[in-house]
Amino acid sequence: MQENLDILSRTVEQWVNQNRPVSQTPIASELEKILDLSLGEDGCSSAELEKAIHDYVHYSPDVSQAGFNKLLYSGANKPAILGDWITSLCNATMHTYQVGPVATLMELELINQWNRLVGFEQGEGVMVSGGSQANMIGMMLARHHACPDIKARGLEGRTLVAYVSDQCHYSQQRSANVLGIGTDNLISVKSDEQGRICPEALAEEIETSISKGHTPFYIGLTAGTTVIGAYDPVAACSEIARKHNIWLHIDGAWGAPILFSEKHKHLLADSHLADSFAWDAHKLMNVPITAAVVLVKHEGALRQCCAGGGGEYLFHQDHNANYNLGERSIQCGRRADSLKVWLSWKAIGHSGFAKKIDYLQAIKNECISMIQKRTSFEILAPSAYLNIVFRFVPQSDNSNYSDDEAISKLNMEICKTMMREGGPYVDYARYKGKVGVRLILANDQIDSEHIKKLLNQCECIGKELSSNI
Ligand SMILES: *Cc1c(COP(=O)(O)O)cnc(C)c1O
Repeated sequence: MQENLDILSRTVEQWVNQNRPVSQTPIASELEKILDLSLGEDGCSSAELEKAIHDYVHYSPDVSQAGFNKLLYSGANKPAILGDWITSLCNATMHTYQVGPVATLMELELINQWNRLVGFEQGEGVMVSGGSQANMIGMMLARHHACPDIKARGLEGRTLVAYVSDQCHYSQQRSANVLGIGTDNLISVKSDEQGRICPEALAEEIETSISKGHTPFYIGLTAGTTVIGAYDPVAACSEIARKHNIWLHIDGAWGAPILFSEKHKHLLADSHLADSFAWDAHKLMNVPITAAVVLVKHEGALRQCCAGGGGEYLFHQDHNANYNLGERSIQCGRRADSLKVWLSWKAIGHSGFAKKIDYLQAIKNECISMIQKRTSFEILAPSAYLNIVFRFVPQSDNSNYSDDEAISKLNMEICKTMMREGGPYVDYARYKGKVGVRLILANDQIDSEHIKKLLNQCECIGKELSSNI
């Protein structure tokens, strides 16, 4: 173990002290040539292992920097990283209390706290591999609610229909595929200018399905859409769900932590009206991947839906039976993700997350007014949460950019160039037909200086690229 610790401490030093760009990743075919990744008959020395670790770190983008603005997480959550290491050291698995005792109790406390924030008073939950799995379990619970016999008999030709907005995460399609619903039976309901699902359109789609003899069973709202961070209206959709006895799920993978903030939680008002809820701890809470939960309002629902036969060898009916979280899960072996989340929550408290949200919301407002002041930028989407989607638009006398597609391509090029130059690492995304830079504010080390530099660089590259064509 001492050797492990030595390598670890040298690697961490390399990670922390290196003054490096956010990204220095060559294209895949080049990196393949640089690294020797072959596995062979014979083993190797620990020096060779350390060299491989060094390369691994060197070529990974530095997600801890304030300039990592590409994904829905950024920064280094120290208590959580420590928790992740200890988790590997103990290597518990989460099916039974016996093999993950403290991890189980920590997971239960986390689930209590998450349910309290969402407003599920009698709620339950289980930690899952991510928002994608949480959404899938949400849809599976909905299917079980509508037709419990499907668990044993399968669909038997029935057509079940699910409804999401046209801004939802792609995992909803994966769920419809995995659960045998069929992606054609996942209805993409139109969203308004703010990127929120239109309740009237939702109601109409449901009526259409009913008139075809189909069974509406699932409404999947999003709290914080992936591209622009929009929050679907819960109360209006809940009324529709109740009228037709349809399960209401909220995908809060990205936007749920807004519930920590007294000032901003109104964006996700009425979350308690849902039946199930997805929450990623590995996004804004910045716990090392993966850490997420699916929360359910109705106690016992997970076990009824997920548990099947064949587990007697594992789930013994002893005094710990109620603590065997494996019966609520579709997994057998499951990593103990609770420690890293619990440690980071314990370290900063509810108020730590609230402060982070409030700070980033203030930075967002500053950033938006900076963008609005520059004539070469245009905001492409309203920004309720921490996503800012904007684009560079060349001067109007530049005839090469008379249509949206040309401007879209230019903005993709701007993002790629910024990444190549090792500057802030942003990505592009399409919203309502137009491609722009998608800037994600997930790292509270970010300040207005950083934003100013990012916008300068964006503008500079945009001008250079558009004049060179
Ligand atoms: C990221 C995201 C997901 C997927 O979550 P994973 O943890 O990556 O599986 C689902 N929904 C939304 C809205 C997301 O932003």
